[in-house]
Amino acid sequence: MANEKTRLLEIIDSKSVFEGITSRQKKQEKEGYLRQSNADITKALVAKMRARKARTSLKIVKAEDGHTGHKCAKTLAKEGAQKQQTSKIKTDVDPIWAISGACLSAMTQKLAYSVIRKKKGVLLKPREETTTNLALVSEGIKEAFGVDVTQAEMWKSIRSKHISGPCSQFLWKTIHGLFMVGNRWRREGMPEEYHDRAVCSVCENTESMDHILFRCEAPGQAEIWRELKRVWALTGIPWKEPDWGTALGAGCAVLRSENGARKTHMESLWTILWSEAVHLIWKLRCERVIR
Ligand SMILES: [Zn+2]
Repeated sequence: MANEKTRLLEIIDSKSVFEGITSRQKKQEKEGYLRQSNADITKALVAKMRARKARTSLKIVKAEDGHTGHKCAKTLAKEGAQKQQTSKIKTDVDPIWAISGACLSAMTQKLAYSVIRKKKGVLLKPREETTTNLALVSEGIKEAFGVDVTQAEMWKSIRSKHISGPCSQFLWKTIHGLFMVGNRWRREGMPEEYHDRAVCSVCENTESMDHILFRCEAPGQAEIWRELKRVWALTGIPWKEPDWGTALGAGCAVLRSENGARKTHMESLWTILWSEAVHLIWKLRCERVIR
């Protein structure tokens, strides 16, 4: 590490980091870094630069430039990402350089509201059913596409531009387990005459969402997946079995060519076809059951 009296040239490949400590730094500081997800690291970096007595220059490079320092940083980042236990990054700021809070002049109603919502959200306990369903989606995605997705990525994926509004609502409610299906008809306080509704009238099994979308023998489910399989064969991309990951996590599909490049158009097609197919199965079931 260079000492504070040595001139320093920092090489950066991220435009957002570069702007965060140069052109956008003042604005972000005035806003108290409330919009930044990596605020602690940015604050520590800015404080370190301010504490230096010699000039610090910054240079932005591109991955394809083949800069040695950049390559080494990538290798370290990869090693870091594979760590089982995360290392503590020192982000303490010397009190002389510490700036806390946000400027009232930089605060907007929108920003204040989003911060309050975020803070309240942290205190909310996730619903048990939501946690179980998210685990089913992420396990399915891992198995089908070989990628790990975070909960935030899964929620973001259902708002994909390739998923229609009604379909997105259906996915959101399904993951939260909000539809009146299966055992919800038998929950405490439910009049006994409704208990029969928990059972699928065709298969005589508990009519869970999993049963409706992937297992039910009533006309609709198997036919739609069969038809989708036939259409998907036209793309030449291997078929995956319908489940919580491939269907309800359709917006997280990752398809690669033989050389490992992402096939983004095919991923979009997957998102459209699979999300619409699973929604159609639900609509057909409702048409059959709710008369
Ligand atoms: Zn059934």
